[in-house]
Amino acid sequence: MNRKRIIAGNWKMNLTQESAKELMKDVIKWTPKNLPNDVDVVVCVPFTLLSTVHAMTKNTRIKLGAQNMSWAEKGAFTGEISSEQLIEQGVTHVIIGHSERREMFNETCETVNKKIKTALKNNLTPIFCIGESEQQFEKGETNTVVSRQTKNGLEGLTDDEIKKVIIAYEPIWAIGTGKTASKEDAQKVIAFIREQLPKGVKDIIPILYGGSMNAQNAKELLDQIDIDGGLIGGASLKAHDFLCVAGSCI
Ligand code: PEP
Repeated sequence: MNRKRIIAGNWKMNLTQESAKELMKDVIKWTPKNLPNDVDVVVCVPFTLLSTVHAMTKNTRIKLGAQNMSWAEKGAFTGEISSEQLIEQGVTHVIIGHSERREMFNETCETVNKKIKTALKNNLTPIFCIGESEQQFEKGETNTVVSRQTKNGLEGLTDDEIKKVIIAYEPIWAIGTGKTASKEDAQKVIAFIREQLPKGVKDIIPILYGGSMNAQNAKELLDQIDIDGGLIGGASLKAHDFLCVAGSCI
């Protein structure tokens, strides 16, 4: 099954106008010229940098993503941002349910589900994050956790809607820690997640791995049959490292 491959950078709460421009200049210059059409490179940047990065990427192969959005369409939601506002900035992708938002900002499976629905309704591609904590991993609860998160996050969506979602499996213990899941473990969990999806979509939707992926370990992870790409945090802040990961898809 030929699925789309996606390399998405998550800048988190890093960079300002000048440093973002510097990074993007190199990312654009070094994006492999032979990047196949079925590989998407996405940069998910802070809200304040969307317009700057969009101005630089609009005529390139690089797509623009946000890191969060509201489940509401508009109105009295102080501090939130709507899909319409993101789309106006050139956004096509949005990270939803990142573990940092679940852990530090009380996002629940219910709010994640509502956000995915709102994103899809507005034609934004959700990058839906799931993954177990270190404690859950050590207790052997990974499959239970990811199966629950998958089911709850996609609750109420039709198969046609699920087909438009990208899932990112990110073991929390691997995020920003330098500890990466082994290629065998990442492949096993991602194959298991795929099995939790409805029959008509399971072989179609891209599932990414995230968690300390970098220029050195990307190739062996991306070579796994069920791993369709990566969500890259730290390494996406260095153009060379980020593009080495993207180059590993070729
Ligand atoms: C992430 O932020 O989703 C992530 C995977 O971060 P890192 O690559 O730094 O572990």
